[in-house]
Amino acid sequence: MILVLGGTGEARELADALDKDGIAVLSSLAGRVSNPRLPRGEVRVGGFGGPEAFAGWLREHRIAAVIDATHPFAARISASAAQACPAAGVPLLRLERPGWAERPGDQWRWVPDLADAAAAIPSLGRRVLLTTGRQGLAAFAGVTEAWFLIRCVEPPDPPLPAGHELLLDRGPYTLAGELQLIDLHSIDLVVTKDSGGGLTEAKLDAARERRLPVIVVRRPARPALGTVHTVAEALTWTRDHAGAG
Ligand code: NAP
Repeated sequence: MILVLGGTGEARELADALDKDGIAVLSSLAGRVSNPRLPRGEVRVGGFGGPEAFAGWLREHRIAAVIDATHPFAARISASAAQACPAAGVPLLRLERPGWAERPGDQWRWVPDLADAAAAIPSLGRRVLLTTGRQGLAAFAGVTEAWFLIRCVEPPDPPLPAGHELLLDRGPYTLAGELQLIDLHSIDLVVTKDSGGGLTEAKLDAARERRLPVIVVRRPARPALGTVHTVAEALTWTRDHAGAG
């Protein structure tokens, strides 16, 4: 049984491909989204209870290999897998989509975290499209100089900025749609994590087209371990190194 730590489009693609190959796959989801898009194969939901419990779970379920395909900003589960897998003697691979790169015409401000993103807002804009996700929005609650269009998949918990509108939506997004949103709300600044990938990239194209600044939160540091960037590479690794298929 191959365990895919999921919650991303790549994780779903990988699980689908493994299942189609006849390889037994179990996808693990954190359970943050009430109506997640489910992959093929088996699915389990919820945390493992920390690295030690995770190692025990891996042994108990006779997992042959783990592919950590979680979101680039999901640092805790990755750190937990990096501890649990060696402890249980289970090979681990990280599948991580490449980050976004600036193109001519972009006006990006890179910041290390959400607090620094919030601090940078007053000098860059007044009407913000905030797309950093549901978690950590408290960092923006004290920003009184700007109005926020907060877009996320699930309703966020307070505290939130006083001046805001909530837009519950899930990608993929199109350039035409993002331009329309920017124009409708007179957006003059976009704030995003460096999530990478094509599903949510259109906001960056739209910002370039409207000559808007973008605050980009850098990815958190990760444990040094074998990493691939595509589902195809992860499939090859699974076949070669886990003795599966
Ligand atoms: P996190 O901070 O790294 O994880 C917090 C805790 O949630 C982990 O310690 C673990 O609990 C549990 N957990 C997280 N992912 C899990 C998984 N795939 N399977 C089982 N348990 C999991 O993660 P997060 O930022 O809350 O993200 C949660 C999930 O949402 C991830 O699967 C990620 O791929 C997805 N996601 C995250 C973002 C983001 O911006 N962070 C964006 C889109 C999707 P235990 O310690 O109890 O094992």
